[in-house]
Amino acid sequence: VKRNPQEVEFHQAVKEILDSLVPVIERHPKYMKAGILERIVEPERLITFRVPWVDDNGNVQVNRGFRVQFNSTIGPYKGGLRFHPSVNASIIKFLGFEQTFKNSLTGQPIGGGKGGSDFEPKGKSDGEIMRFTQSFMTELYKYIGQDTDVPAGDIGVGAREIGFMFGQYKRIHGGHEAGVLTGKGIGYGGSLARTEATGYGCVYFVNEMLESKGLSFDGSTVVVSGSGNVAIYAMQKAIRLGAKVVACSDSNGYIYDKDGINLDTVHRLKEVERKRISEYVKEHPNAVYTEGCNNIWTIPCDIALPCATQNEIDEESAKILVANGVQAVGEGANMPSTLGAIDVFLQANVLFGPAKAANAGGVAVSALEMSQNSMRYSWRFHEVDDKLHEIMKNIYKNSVKAAEEYGHPGNLVVGANIAGFLKVADGMLAHGVV
Ligand code: NDP
Repeated sequence: VKRNPQEVEFHQAVKEILDSLVPVIERHPKYMKAGILERIVEPERLITFRVPWVDDNGNVQVNRGFRVQFNSTIGPYKGGLRFHPSVNASIIKFLGFEQTFKNSLTGQPIGGGKGGSDFEPKGKSDGEIMRFTQSFMTELYKYIGQDTDVPAGDIGVGAREIGFMFGQYKRIHGGHEAGVLTGKGIGYGGSLARTEATGYGCVYFVNEMLESKGLSFDGSTVVVSGSGNVAIYAMQKAIRLGAKVVACSDSNGYIYDKDGINLDTVHRLKEVERKRISEYVKEHPNAVYTEGCNNIWTIPCDIALPCATQNEIDEESAKILVANGVQAVGEGANMPSTLGAIDVFLQANVLFGPAKAANAGGVAVSALEMSQNSMRYSWRFHEVDDKLHEIMKNIYKNSVKAAEEYGHPGNLVVGANIAGFLKVADGMLAHGVV
């Protein structure tokens, strides 16, 4: 706290992990002796840079760019880029820290990184997006590469932005280094099923939790927050498994459709026309739109999938979800539940899939995209999807096992943190004090 004053999101993420590691440190003092904890919370490198660009009115705009290269013990830094006005060093560090453990959990050889900018993509023209992303990449390219650091998308960074950044990287770096970014278009090195991977993976993970209690998505009522990349494909998979998704949101408000959300409309409005979710009710008059996001969690549901942003479920919302009988919560977004909310879910024995386990499917398939780029070969959709499914099952299994071994049976927060930590910590031990 002294070294990083005001970095509240980063402190929150570190506290959650360190609390979970108490039984590990008690059993294995070697990690303490080698200074693993002190080293693991300090990023290897945090790069910040100026991103100047010219808007459509000819005005010069300046944003700040970030890349945190958090931990490269088990592979090249890997993690998305976020474009959102809320981006600052604390947000990027919390995301990079979490990413280190998440990437370890996937079983793939990838280290932890994250980046982005306080740029607001909403309301910008394609030309402005292109000029901004080109300026961003003109600085970022110095620090990345297919064997050093491989960025991908996150909030505000989808296929369009990745395409522009890949074009600029190619132009200034030369060659066609496909593996330098993931989430690319299918025509130039992208992987089938990457777009779907985080949402599908989250539902696969929740499905494992449900099955352990003899429950399933079939016939359940689901509330999903967000209507971006993760939310849309979480909804799609949940619906395919027989669930009724009754609500979703964007940063302005949420829609409730008691007959079940029409996903084609949401997809077209948000991903193609880039409009607000409020437009949904014009086409589906039986649905209700409510301004503001918090109350989405007052809608009764069996399964809640927060897929928008950090700290969107606070303690109060968690209590309402529990009072309404929620059976499972799967975190599609990063750190969507506050520490207080997580406690409420665990105390109430709600099945709780923490982000670093439940949303690891995206980065896992990004690693598969890197493998395909290295092989100069593409797997078919079902091949990637099958591998994703297997990875999510393994993450679930390993988290359950670690939770049991270290005295917290059923607590997947502790289990995922410990399983993710051990692999990185053992690698750091093997590499000496670096
Ligand atoms: P998108 O930008 O595609 O979608 C984000 C969605 O959340 C949008 O509907 C957006 O609304 C909403 N949202 C964003 N910020 C806020 C806010 N402050 N309050 C309320 N709603 C908000 O991003 P993704 O779907 O890719 O990412 C969603 C979450 O999942 C993030 O936490 C991300 O870190 C995490 N994640 C993403 C992965 C991926 O593969 N994409 C992988 C692992 C985790 P609006 O349209 O109004 O902006």
